[in-house]
Amino acid sequence: MSKVIAICNQKGGVGKTTTTVNLGIGLANSGKRVLLVDADPQGDLTASLGWFENDLKATLATGLEKLILDDLINTEDIILHHPEGADLIPSDIGLAGTETMLVNTMSREIVLKTYLEAVKEKYDYILIDCMPSLGMITVNALAAADGVIVPVQAQYLPVKGMTQLMKTIGKVQRSINPELRVEGILLTLADMRTNLARSTAENLRESYGQAVKIYDTVIPIATKAAETSAAGKSIYRYDKSNAAAKAYERFTEEVLNG
Ligand code: ADP
Ligand code: MG
Repeated sequence: MSKVIAICNQKGGVGKTTTTVNLGIGLANSGKRVLLVDADPQGDLTASLGWFENDLKATLATGLEKLILDDLINTEDIILHHPEGADLIPSDIGLAGTETMLVNTMSREIVLKTYLEAVKEKYDYILIDCMPSLGMITVNALAAADGVIVPVQAQYLPVKGMTQLMKTIGKVQRSINPELRVEGILLTLADMRTNLARSTAENLRESYGQAVKIYDTVIPIATKAAETSAAGKSIYRYDKSNAAAKAYERFTEEVLNG
């Protein structure tokens, strides 16, 4: 049984992509079969894993559009294999066009879900790196997912932005995907020298603690964590002893333990 998790927050720069990479490779390092899906036309996940626009023969957009047009798809043509053991469905700016195309498509909210059904059995975990908006591609990610992980930057009071996300998740649960659950909130980019990370966690626990799990692990700010995307590697391979590497390892354990 494979588990599909959307990494989602409509705010940019909260660590969604970094979390997708390091949770994904973390799960692969634990022997799980992992597929990462870049659902952001910015293609940050694709670039973070070492592929660039010009390297891509086919993308998520190609696959979804073929599905919409009822063309034959060979999903294997689109899936890339990262040297650290996870697979990737890449994206580039073409996904923005797919989002427009979806508006006039039948069952437009479940195109990604339908697409993933075809590959699901080959994986234990499928992680979807969402874009910073709550548009049709993100709704597709939530419709395809069993769970959502919400990375939140520990420096700011994130409660206001969370309300909109929780509303969207609620809408998807009611209308398309009643099985969808919020797996948990992950505090990222925490400056461990200040108390802000702690007060953000407390604030979140007050607002959502009853309803939502907040992971024990907090991901610290680490320059090396930002450098990994240019290297196309996970933090484990880039700098194994780094505090962020240790934190993502612990976080992977938390996810594995459900
Ligand atoms: P999102 O996908 O939510 O936009 P990213 O994962 O791209 O967020 O992270 C935003 C920026 O912060 C990127 O430049 C990334 O390299 C950097 N970053 C992410 N996590 C960390 C961290 N733990 N420490 C330092 N920089 C980080
Ligand atoms: Mg991103």
